[in-house]
Amino acid sequence: MKITAAVVHRAYAPFTIETLDLTDPRDDELLVEVVASGMCATDQHGRDGYFPSMPFPAVFGHEGAGIVRAVGKAVTRFKPGDHVVMSNPFCGECPNCRTQRQSYCLSVRKVKMGGTRLDGSTLHAQDGKPVYGAFFQQSSFGTFAIANEKFTVKVRNDLPLERWGPLACGGQTGAGAVLNVMKPLPGDAFVVFGVGAVGLSGLMAARIAGCDPIIAVDVHEHRLALAREFGATHTINHSGRTDVVAEIKKITGPGVRYSLETSALPEVLREAVEALMPAGTCVLLGSARAATEVSLEMPFIQPGRTLRGVVQGDSEPQTFIPQLTDYMATGQFPIERAITFYDLAQINQAAAESASGKTIKPVLRMPH
Ligand SMILES: [Zn+2]
Ligand SMILES: [Zn+2]
Repeated sequence: MKITAAVVHRAYAPFTIETLDLTDPRDDELLVEVVASGMCATDQHGRDGYFPSMPFPAVFGHEGAGIVRAVGKAVTRFKPGDHVVMSNPFCGECPNCRTQRQSYCLSVRKVKMGGTRLDGSTLHAQDGKPVYGAFFQQSSFGTFAIANEKFTVKVRNDLPLERWGPLACGGQTGAGAVLNVMKPLPGDAFVVFGVGAVGLSGLMAARIAGCDPIIAVDVHEHRLALAREFGATHTINHSGRTDVVAEIKKITGPGVRYSLETSALPEVLREAVEALMPAGTCVLLGSARAATEVSLEMPFIQPGRTLRGVVQGDSEPQTFIPQLTDYMATGQFPIERAITFYDLAQINQAAAESASGKTIKPVLRMPH
């Protein structure tokens, strides 16, 4: 079928809106009419050629929400009309997938950024030539997508679907780091470094868990204002300051039980570790470029402090995303207040305003 999609023809080229051919769903696949898709930094990294495994021309997008329009013969969990979110793919066969560690699939590059289905077939074409996609096995920057039922999550259909997409990656990454990994107790002190979409999701989860105090650190005053609306008890503007850890200890005494690092800056990761009390845990979510190094004081780590990297919030999307939609429905996880909507045709503006920090969470509405 013919679809409208955002295509990138080479590294650092802008997105262009074009007509493509989309293949039919196979037996275990769904045809999803994409209603809206979040954009996260990984899409912009893809556009700029950060992933050598991903050929061009390519269709990106990995936070798609939409409506199932057709199902393959072997699909049992979905029917046309279902509201769905397309989430994090995995190979299902490696040692980590076989032991419920799918967020750490050993074939992650091939599955998310290989440009094709796992068997090497492409989903899109133009004038008979292949266009690469299958980005996170979805490529949601288009009016329709082919999704494997294994990575697709059914969501409630009584609320606007266009706000669910960000749960597929950024939302479950931030909230899962807190609710699935840290598992804080009420009254645990929490700090988040960087309150973009991922950091705010972590902050909302910390509030749900009853953390107190909840401290937000960022360099943008408008993000800190939103963090206060979302439940931060204290905010610190990092701009021009070198005493952020001292400020956190002024608030907490011994330091925090949990810190969440989303900035991907080594000096900030060091602060996130130094803000910990003994037996505290820092979770690293920020994805730094290859070969980025950080230095830490060994005697400081020894009293039970933990530094852990986490991907996709350690989430099991089939249960965790519906849990987050329920929190959204009851107003406990108001991520929609961090969203700025754009039409697909404004995708380059959305990318620029997200990179500059003006927009916290861009979501693209598809033309139908
Ligand atoms: Zn795997
Ligand atoms: Zn993402």
